[in-house]
Amino acid sequence: MTSLSGKTAVVTGASAGIGEATARALAGAGARVMLIARRLDRLEALAEDIGAGACCLAIDLASVDAALTMLDAATAQLGQVDILVNNAGILRTSHVDSFDLAELEPMIAINYSAVVRSSILFARAMKQRGSGQIVNISSIGASLSASGAGVYGSLKVALDRFTDVLRIELAGSGVRVGQVAPGTTSTEIFEDMKARGQPGWDEYIPAMVPQDIARAILFMCEQTGNANAARMHIYATSEAF
Ligand code: NDP
Repeated sequence: MTSLSGKTAVVTGASAGIGEATARALAGAGARVMLIARRLDRLEALAEDIGAGACCLAIDLASVDAALTMLDAATAQLGQVDILVNNAGILRTSHVDSFDLAELEPMIAINYSAVVRSSILFARAMKQRGSGQIVNISSIGASLSASGAGVYGSLKVALDRFTDVLRIELAGSGVRVGQVAPGTTSTEIFEDMKARGQPGWDEYIPAMVPQDIARAILFMCEQTGNANAARMHIYATSEAF
């Protein structure tokens, strides 16, 4: 018997990085997981590797219908969803002089709107049942004013406020809500910066690995009784701000 035996979990952004590590950690603790992202080949390979009834949904979270599709697919395949980890996100950094305004709407759609929509739809189903856990992935970038990260950071700030209000609105319902804010973690998220000839932030310091963040997410999901680990900030040991 492991900590999440008999539970089900939906993880977005499971085809890479923190989402993949989280799916592995939740499955390792006994949960049956649904893996969500666009790259089906990666999701299928991960599901096969995880085993234990893991299933996949290939979907573009930028679509306004994505949250409802996720809820329907998860209910059909898992029965009920005990844990939702809204992890998928993109990072486009740029100074005011060079910011490509075409990047704005996709960042809002994926990093904010998609998380809000799925949080609301899954929260209603969980509240009706009287139990559940929602984890939204923030960033330490929400606490920093850093050149180039104005849009990314401000969307994470907005998400933090939304997530905390969701926790408050669900207080006493049996549904736990929390946010995990990773520090610099070496993943594909920095490839866009590197492709544009900039150093990815994971090149400045010895960064964390996705498993470091997955451990914190698992800890949040393992809370029992009256405890809700509502906010966790995971910094790399060499981050000095
Ligand atoms: P990765 O780039 O490694 O992974 C991003 C994931 O999101 C992929 O699985 C990708 O899958 C999915 N994704 C991106 N766009 C879409 C879309 N339109 N529809 C569906 N899925 C999508 O990123 P990380 O693991 O680093 O980041 C995960 C979360 O952690 C993000 O919310 C990020 O903001 C946050 N974070 C990361 C930090 C870091 O240093 N790495 C620091 C602070 C926060 P696919 O391309 O297959 O669709």
